Amino acid sequence: MNVERITAARGLTLRCKGWRQEALLRMLENVLENGENQKELIVYASLGKAARNWPSYHAIVDTLKQLEEDETLVIQSGKPIGIFRTHKQAPLVVMANCNLVGKWATSENFYDLQEKGLIIWGGLTAAAWQYIGSQGVIQGTYEIFQSIARIHFGGDLRGRFILTAGLGGMGGAQPLAGTMANAVILCVEVSEERIDKRITNGYLKQKTKDLDEGLEWVTEAIHDGRSLSIGLLGNAAEVYPELVSKGIIPDIVTDQTSAHDLLYGYVPKGYTLDQVVEVRQKAPAKLQDDAGASIAEEVRALLAFKERGAVVFDNGNNLRTQAVKYGVENAFEIDIFTEAFLRPLFARAIGPFRWIALSGNPEDIRIIDDYILQEFRDNDVVTNWIRLANQYVPIEGLPARIGWFGHGDRTKLALAVNLMVREGKLSGPIAFSRDHLDAGAMAHPNIMTERMKDGSDAIADWPLLNAMMSCSSMADLVAIHSGGGGYAGYMTSAGITIVADGTENSDERIRIALHNDTGLGVLRYADAGYEESLDEVARTGIRRISTERYGGNLYA
Ligand code: NAD
Repeated sequence: MNVERITAARGLTLRCKGWRQEALLRMLENVLENGENQKELIVYASLGKAARNWPSYHAIVDTLKQLEEDETLVIQSGKPIGIFRTHKQAPLVVMANCNLVGKWATSENFYDLQEKGLIIWGGLTAAAWQYIGSQGVIQGTYEIFQSIARIHFGGDLRGRFILTAGLGGMGGAQPLAGTMANAVILCVEVSEERIDKRITNGYLKQKTKDLDEGLEWVTEAIHDGRSLSIGLLGNAAEVYPELVSKGIIPDIVTDQTSAHDLLYGYVPKGYTLDQVVEVRQKAPAKLQDDAGASIAEEVRALLAFKERGAVVFDNGNNLRTQAVKYGVENAFEIDIFTEAFLRPLFARAIGPFRWIALSGNPEDIRIIDDYILQEFRDNDVVTNWIRLANQYVPIEGLPARIGWFGHGDRTKLALAVNLMVREGKLSGPIAFSRDHLDAGAMAHPNIMTERMKDGSDAIADWPLLNAMMSCSSMADLVAIHSGGGGYAGYMTSAGITIVADGTENSDERIRIALHNDTGLGVLRYADAGYEESLDEVARTGIRRISTERYGGNLYA
């Protein structure tokens, strides 16, 4: 079927029977508008898709247009399956994407089932229609850099050199986060098209094909105390070892290439992008082995950087696991960003909350920014970010903002916004969602839950409980995803969306769904013994059941 380029509808004209349905439809359109390869329905992370295929996409669109507010649409791996009569407080959409039974959760089975058209990898926010462009991870990346600045560099990255790779859907946030943190950041990327896209959308300042030229720019900017982002056309598996052999040791090193995928993601050294396509068809096993071997070389360079004093961390792309498979036994000496830098925030359920102006009017986001600066002025994490975001983060697709809010604060903000919608202070309804990488919403033993205090890293009960609680708590959309590195068996997560359409019904949904979502997040970390969470329980009055009182201990 020939399809025109999809963009999210703007304005106040409803195509659906209510704003809740219209909101979900616009969010579906928006993930495609912001996505990396719309023709293939791919939003980000190599194969992260918005719908199973084009017939499924059109069926979902038509169904959302007809859906009554007391009905629920069921979606399995991006394919709409049926509509059930539920009730007005039930989710409008429930979905499960890429979940395979434990023993069968392998990359081979995933590729096979995907080939048969039975399953898709939904990323975290792609199939759940929550992706808002690179901004979705930008505050997380910025908070990582800020945390490194506090721990290692006296609170400021001015004059510091960050080396990274990958300028895709998520990795594209790195250059802007780096310059917002005042650093000089060199981003290695094999695709010139991706580099150009980041320059066009304002995330990246300049590009070069020549490593030496890039290094000269780095040196000059450091000398002048200027922040700068540079896209270097090249392969990380070549550039990183070359820097080690030149004795150039950046202050901070990471990587956000699609290393989780050896077939469609990571480009082996010595390959052009056309050769990747050709070898994938003719000799997929060779491509995977070459990618694995290149990752191993890159990770050896990362370890060398670390040994020579750089702050090196895994940025959530499964690089270390692949390196171990390809012979780098000590790859896990590299820290994961969550444990090293973000866990104290997650333990208080502070995480990547976001909101989208469904009318398409950017002024709505500005009005909400102003409200936050006024009403949350004691919250430094949020206000520092909102000021910077307002100044630097360009709009992609429907205007949106991310803000790392925690338990109680998310509810307070969303209720205030719903009131602004009701009183006509905003030009249209606002949708709230969050990344799946959130306190109670993800089990991923190599990213989110690595080295948990109580050893509960691989227990997937938490995101499943989160999804069930969110359905019971009246969220408008609830999703359960699995997959992650290698697409199967690495993680399970849950996502929610709640629409503030200005009604009192929305007040109720916000009050219950957002509160319970973060409340369960706090309890997940309290259960694992994190002091910050126990403190949060005491501060906010979340009703935690203490089995300790009955003779148990915190962990069992
Ligand atoms: P993407 O597929 O959109 O982009 C990956 C980019 O890496 C592409 O532009 C590709 O050309 C480039 N690349 C591949 N091999 C390379 C090489 N050898 N050298 C240089 N560049 C190379 O993926 P994305 O959405 O940007 O996600 C990147 C990774 O980050 C994924 O593994 C994803 O799962 C992970 N991720 C982590 C987080 C987090 O919370 N930290 C969030 C989202 C995604």
